[in-house]
Parts: sequence; structure tokens; C-alpha cells
Amino acid sequence: MSELAHFIGGRRVQGAGRHVDVYEPMTGAVAGRAPMATPAEVRAAVENARDAQPAWAATNPQRRARVFLKFLELASREMDELATILAREHGKTVADARGDLQRGLEVVEFCVGAPYLLRGGFTDSAGPGIDTYSMRQPLGVAAGITPFNFPAMIPLWMSAPAIACGNAFVLKPSERDPSTPLRLAELMIEAGLPPGVFNVVNGDKEAVDALLDDGDVKSIAFVGSSQIAEYVYARACAHGKRAQCFGAAKNHMVIMPDADMGQAVDALVGAGYGSAGERCMAISVAVPVGEATAQKLMEQLVPRVESLKIGLSTDPSADFGPLISKAHLARVNDYVALGVEEGAKLLVDGRGFKMQGYEEGFFMGGCLFDEVTPRMRIYREEIFGPVLSVVRTNAYEEALGLVDSHEYGNGVAIFTRDGDAARDFASRVQVGMVGVNVPIPTPLAYYTFGGWKRSAFGDLNQHGDDAFRFYTKTKTVTSRWPSGVKEGASFVIPTMS
Ligand code: NAD
Repeated sequence: MSELAHFIGGRRVQGAGRHVDVYEPMTGAVAGRAPMATPAEVRAAVENARDAQPAWAATNPQRRARVFLKFLELASREMDELATILAREHGKTVADARGDLQRGLEVVEFCVGAPYLLRGGFTDSAGPGIDTYSMRQPLGVAAGITPFNFPAMIPLWMSAPAIACGNAFVLKPSERDPSTPLRLAELMIEAGLPPGVFNVVNGDKEAVDALLDDGDVKSIAFVGSSQIAEYVYARACAHGKRAQCFGAAKNHMVIMPDADMGQAVDALVGAGYGSAGERCMAISVAVPVGEATAQKLMEQLVPRVESLKIGLSTDPSADFGPLISKAHLARVNDYVALGVEEGAKLLVDGRGFKMQGYEEGFFMGGCLFDEVTPRMRIYREEIFGPVLSVVRTNAYEEALGLVDSHEYGNGVAIFTRDGDAARDFASRVQVGMVGVNVPIPTPLAYYTFGGWKRSAFGDLNQHGDDAFRFYTKTKTVTSRWPSGVKEGASFVIPTMS
């Protein structure tokens, strides 16, 4: 069993207060203990970051970017170990854990362009003898609070742009799987980042509140459930901090009558059940348009869900592994029971699944509901498990209206062969990230990631250009110089005229 620590000033620091158990979901065994930072420990981490930040900000952006080049090399070299640690602690498969790391590293790659991205503007002769220019300056100490489901990707989405911009960063990762972010912070220091520029404090609400109330923390990035995102956003704003807080999702896939059904079903199974449905971009609602489409869909979908391969995180042939915790497993099971009570048709019931030899693991099989209606709680609320709901619609406008009426607006997909329908959908739908014949439309590092409606609080998105705006203050200088030496010196022979 590993004794986890905080990571402050470039070294592991043992926690002085409470500890919580960290599990290995596939066995259900306690794998480690993580310290829960006290307000005093959070303060020490922030002070350490605050003291390290000015020298880092004074380091030119190209040198700062070189640290990332080295970090990318170290992380790539350690990819297998990192993916294994991540998979064992989260429960997702090792292959999926590599994707989690890779998507984070792609943001680090983007941040290597910091010298270019941080350039300001310049207007020569904005007025008579007047020049105007703008510059981007770091905020100071930035903090990030991350969820359990992407323990590499999301900490890197926040920390890399924050640090590239010349800030110091304090991460409060999920207490359920903190080992990977701790190792990533260590690798940053190994890559040449000065100690204190990337600190990690483990903890829960107490640590989060301490960060929210700390006057030296200038910005808060949060990803997690919507209720907590809203709370964090409000409290951060009340303290005058910048905040970007991303919340829950209920992502729909609209399947038009002309869709390639084989392709749509493949996409639906992967996006619905991959990582046991514990992805903010998972598809949790399938919306076939028209009765014939629904029939065709169900004919192909039911056997695919019945034959999903649930396996150990370390099994390369598994489609998905266990859920994150016993409590979350119970919650997802309760939602399935609720769906039955609400009158939805449970066509595939994965609740009884037990992994042979791993009976204490947090496993469940895939579940599939048909005839789900918008009034049901299993439709309105995020389940975050391997449970897919099918809501049948009669027409395209009805499907679009359904998506738009949902309180969450993170991601959505449409499957069709009709370019006009796809274009209309992409243009009108009230959702932040749209896939056309693409089930998980997570934007690449050089675009920005963010949902709409109650899936996000704040204005700027994660990564891409928005991250460089979020992590810098713009200063605009208007300058005029009085006539100087150039008029005082003359190289013409003086005359009396
Ligand atoms: P969570 O909200 O339980 O926890 C997120 C973070 O908040 C953790 O670091 C946790 O320690 C902290 N926290 C928990 N309770 C708190 C409280 N009362 N006060 C202050 N901080 C608190 O979320 P989770 O279960 O770790 O992650 C799953 C959720 O994250 C899902 O809702 C999922 O949709 C969402 N998510 C969203 C995105 C996105 O980009 N929109 C991405 C990934 C995950």
C-alpha cells in the first residue's frame, strides 16, 4: 500500500492531517492513502508557489517552453508506467489510460508555442507621435481542481497553459486517483521547472475552500459535477478571482434515417460504454429519428451491448473496466432501478455482473434502456456509468428540440449522410461541442474545449487560445515621447539667419 503525499517546492511532503483510502477498482482493495490538506497546508503550498512565480515569469517564454519539450520527452519515455498507474487507480483500461495521457500531452505540445501565443499587439503612430501596444502578463498563482475521470488529461489541460504563461500552478487533484497527477508534477520538475512552479495539494472540500478563499490565488479552474462547479464559480468570483468551471453532461447522439447504421452503432457502443461511461463526452442518450430508424438501431444495438467485454483494467481485450468506487457503483445501480420504476424498458441489465476471481471489484455490465422519456430522471440527470438511454423521436426538429431543452450542453453528435441536415444541426444546436458522424467530438489542443448551459460556468474555454487569455492579464500601453535629442543636435553649419 502506498502512502501518498503532497508535492510542494519540488519535493514530496507528508500530510499532517486526515487521510483517505485510495482504491484499486478492479480488486476493490485499498491501494494507498492520500493526505487531505488542511487550510494551513494549502496556504504553505500557495506561499511556496507565490515566491517561486516572479523568477519564472521573468524567464523568457522560449526558455519556459523548452521545459515542456523536455517534459514531453520524459513523459513519453514513461508512458507505459504512467498508463499502468492511471489504469490501476482509475479502473479504465491501460489503452484508454494512454489516450488520457496523450490528450493531455497534446496540450503541452500546443503550449510549446507560448512565445508566439503570448505576443502582444503594436500600432505604430496611433496618433501624432503616439504608439500603442499591448502585452500579456501572468496572473501570479493559478489553481486547478480536477475530477477523477481524467487524472492526466485535465490536470495537464490546466497546468500547461498556466505555467507556459509565467504563472505558478497549484493543483488539487481528485482524491480518488491522485497518483498520476503527482507523478506528472514530479516529471515537470525533473524536466527543469523550478521547484514551486507546479505544486500539488491533495484534499477534498476543505482544501478547495482554502484555495477559493486565498488572496494569493488569482484564478480557479475547475472540472467536476455541475453543482460543485457552480459553487466553486460563485465563491471564486465573490473573492474577485478569475474562474472557469466545467460541469456535468448528458450527451445525445441523433441518428437520422439516412445514417450508416453500422457506423452509428459502432460509435454509440464505444462512446456510450468506453471507460464505463465515466467520460464527460460519453454519449448517454441515443435519439433515433423515425420508427424505422429506431427499429434498425435496436436490432443492431442490443446484441452489441449484450456482448460487451468487461474486463480487468490490465486486460488488453477488455472494452471497459470497473467503475471508480463502490459508492459510485451503488449510485449507478440505483439509477438503473429508478429507470425501471419510472417505466423505461430495460433491454440489457448489467447489474448482476461479477468478475470471476475479482468479486470485490467495482464492476458492472452495460445497461440499455429503451422508451426513455424526457420527463424521467434517468434522462434528465447525469448517471456517469455504462448506461445508455434511447429516446425515440418522430422528426429531425423534435430531436433537435430535445437536445436543446436539456439543461446540459457539453457535447452532441449527429449521424447522417445528408450534408444539409448536418450543417443545419451544427449551426443551430445549443451545445458547445458537436460531432458530425464523430461520436466523441473532443476538440484538439489548438481549439478550445467547453460546454454550454449548465455544463460550464464562466466564459473562456479550456486550452487553445482561450487558455492563454484566461491565464494572462492584458496590459495596453499608449506612449508619446517629447521631442528629444534629434531636434537638439544639428549637423548643419550654424548661421545667423
Ligand atoms: P466531483 O464534482 O465530485 O469532484 C470534482 C472535484 O471537486 C474533486 O477534486 C473533488 O475533490 C472536489 N469536490 C468534491 N466535492 C466538493 C465540494 N463539496 N466542495 C468543493 N470541492 C469539492 O466530480 P467527479 O466525480 O470527480 O467527476 C465527475 C464529474 O466531472 C462528472 O459530472 C463529469 O461530467 C464531470 N466532468 C466534466 C468535464 C467537462 O469538461 N465538462 C470533464 C470531465 C468530467
